[in-house]
Amino acid sequence: MLHGMHSPYGLSRGIRLEKHRSRSLKKEIRDVEEERRKEAAERGKKGKNAAEERFLLIPLYGGEESSARLVKAGDRVEKYQALTSPVEEPVVFSPSAGVVEEIRPVEIPLEGSVLCARLRLLCDGEEEQKVAGKNAGRSGANGSFKRVDAGEKKNSAKEGGEAVLIAAERAGIRDEFDGTPLSQLAKRFRASGVKVLVGCGLDDDPYADSSGAVLREHSREAAEGLRMFAGACGVEKTILAATSFYTWRRVRAAEQGTPVVSMGGKTPAKGVLAGRLRRSLGKAGFVGAQACAALYRAVQEGMPQTDTVVTVAGDGVWRAGNLRVPIGTPIGELLERCGVLPDTKLVYIGPAISGEAVTDLSLPVTQRTRCITALKQEPVNKTFACIGCGRCARVCMRGILPWLVHDVINRDTVDPMMLWNVERCTSCHSCSAACPAGIDLAAEVARAAAIRKSGDFE
Ligand code: SF4
Ligand code: SF4
Repeated sequence: MLHGMHSPYGLSRGIRLEKHRSRSLKKEIRDVEEERRKEAAERGKKGKNAAEERFLLIPLYGGEESSARLVKAGDRVEKYQALTSPVEEPVVFSPSAGVVEEIRPVEIPLEGSVLCARLRLLCDGEEEQKVAGKNAGRSGANGSFKRVDAGEKKNSAKEGGEAVLIAAERAGIRDEFDGTPLSQLAKRFRASGVKVLVGCGLDDDPYADSSGAVLREHSREAAEGLRMFAGACGVEKTILAATSFYTWRRVRAAEQGTPVVSMGGKTPAKGVLAGRLRRSLGKAGFVGAQACAALYRAVQEGMPQTDTVVTVAGDGVWRAGNLRVPIGTPIGELLERCGVLPDTKLVYIGPAISGEAVTDLSLPVTQRTRCITALKQEPVNKTFACIGCGRCARVCMRGILPWLVHDVINRDTVDPMMLWNVERCTSCHSCSAACPAGIDLAAEVARAAAIRKSGDFE
């Protein structure tokens, strides 16, 4: 973790470096595979070798049991071929044709140990396009992508909703904010009485813009996917949420059928919006704009989710931007694409407040990788005394009073009666992000929950 005393890199808490924000917030999405194809064609024209050796490290979620894996080391796979068939998890597909060199556990930042397949890519340029065209939307045999037509008329809304969730599972779609499969998210929303579903382009981080970029450039797909998912969750109201006014204007112009809200660059935007919606429309559920757009493509076009959009930002790269890349692409490749500078001191994945520093740049991009930040200087964070502004309590979606927790656990003797609700904390880090005094409140609430559980109040 970048914050708290668990950090192996000695960083005291999250990073807030607003000065580079505009560099990533308005970038159009660059399709890295498209760029590669053009570069290979250029090399070919100049008589140079067009092919280059490349690898992907594809997370095989749900493939821990050998019975759930459809491939082994040495197997040749095609683009969009299914690599797993777990019982209660989305299927994992190969983003490209290649040979599985090995299958081994990998420590992935923010996710822990995940079984991954190292795939040596076979072809480049036009040849790969042909393989993709041949396999796109294939059904049935050899574990390739099975299309589910959730668009056809079902006997009831419930049947239609179930078909959408099956399509999401078969297309391998997960929410980009926490990696939850959409079917599990739907169960959670149904059980907790969610009244309004938010298609979330709120990146909740000064640097990240990947979900916002998808919302801007694929507004209609995101809105349609959101409506499909809302139907599957039994929720009638839908809203699209953008971090900036710039994104809000673009989405409003492109998508007239769904209300759009802008949080005007405020962070933590999710917590603030959830509070506002609770007062006006009822409990809100959030689903990422990338997951919504992927759901639309799965249902309408029969496409599995094999790529993702990642923001690469920070003063350690000269060309920050939003990149669409195959899942499993090494982090180092994205940094190179964006011109990583030789004096970069720190690379971290995830939001500044809760992200994790990485030293191994061969680690892969997953569906949860929304932002990679490269910095020329390790941040020095200062913490001040609480000024009693109450922002931390206002942004907490779980009704916790972080300022009170901060006060209580820093006394000589802790009164457990004053630590109510702390076990309900979801570690969203909104309170830490909101605190102008720079106090790592999320870590303190986690500590308070551990104290309450252990009964050690001295
Ligand atoms: S980290 Fe915990 S205490 Fe802080 S805002 Fe999130 S849920 Fe509330
Ligand atoms: S946000 Fe920070 S400064 Fe404001 S009340 Fe909470 S702990 Fe105190």
